[in-house]
Amino acid sequence: RKEPLAKPDWLRIKLTTDGNYAEIKDMMRSKTLHSVCEEARCPNIYECWANRTATFMILGDICTRACRFCAVKTGMPTELDLQEPERVAEAAEQMGLRHCVVTSVARDDLADGGASIFVGTIHAIRARLPLCSVEVLIPDFLGNRDSLQLVMDAKPDILNHNIETVRRLSDRVRARAKYDRTLELLRRAKEMNPDIPTKSSIMLGLGEEWDEILQTMDDLRAVGCNILTLGQYLQPTKSHLQVERYVHPDEFAKLKEEGLARGFSHVESAPLVRSSYHAHEQVQSAAKA
Ligand code: SF4
Ligand code: SF4
Repeated sequence: RKEPLAKPDWLRIKLTTDGNYAEIKDMMRSKTLHSVCEEARCPNIYECWANRTATFMILGDICTRACRFCAVKTGMPTELDLQEPERVAEAAEQMGLRHCVVTSVARDDLADGGASIFVGTIHAIRARLPLCSVEVLIPDFLGNRDSLQLVMDAKPDILNHNIETVRRLSDRVRARAKYDRTLELLRRAKEMNPDIPTKSSIMLGLGEEWDEILQTMDDLRAVGCNILTLGQYLQPTKSHLQVERYVHPDEFAKLKEEGLARGFSHVESAPLVRSSYHAHEQVQSAAKA
């Protein structure tokens, strides 16, 4: 294998841990909850939590898949925890969230892929925090239409499902997920409820070419996807895929223009952008679109 590339200056970030962070971390532990913000050591944690946005990871912390970019543990998942939706809602209330993102590991061991727990979580948050917008970042449920229908019927404020990379690299980067299945999920979501904005994300730096990124944007727009996020892929450990290239912030800015020109209502594009970054503003701009 090649030597890893040196990290450019624009990706150097200092993780500080102030009182607020420690307090929320304690609450997450005491409620046995997992947030992507912490687990992924997301660099935006202070900004997001201060802006009252957080991303919870439900359905346990062990995934039935093993994507080559992802740091989540793989293995035999834990038993289904039916109280989890209520605890997520309690935590969201305690944090005073205005925008709550709910995602999960892939639970290919469950008949509905975990869709009913997503639904329970949306309802539980709405019951406690009627003004909090709820975004779900869902797995592909192995293409199960009924599972998607269940989630859409709970009317999330944003339906997010990541395409992650361009078509050519998809099979190498993602485990079991398929480029066309992702597009089909986003298309069906629009068909089931055209009023719910859909969203997807592409990681850059995995070896994709410029034209392939633009093609992926076109593919997403062709299925009506409204919101796009683009960020730099970072290798979580040495056993994960290497970074092929650090994409310059100017290129991210250019891609934002390309996305907006294609009709996305909102595009977040910068090296440290993650799927849920500035998500609160996306609900507002999608509502206006
Ligand atoms: Fe959490 Fe997402 Fe914000 Fe990162 S970008 S801190 S994962 S809400
Ligand atoms: Fe990570 Fe999702 Fe892939 Fe599981 S399915 S390994 S959580 S990206």
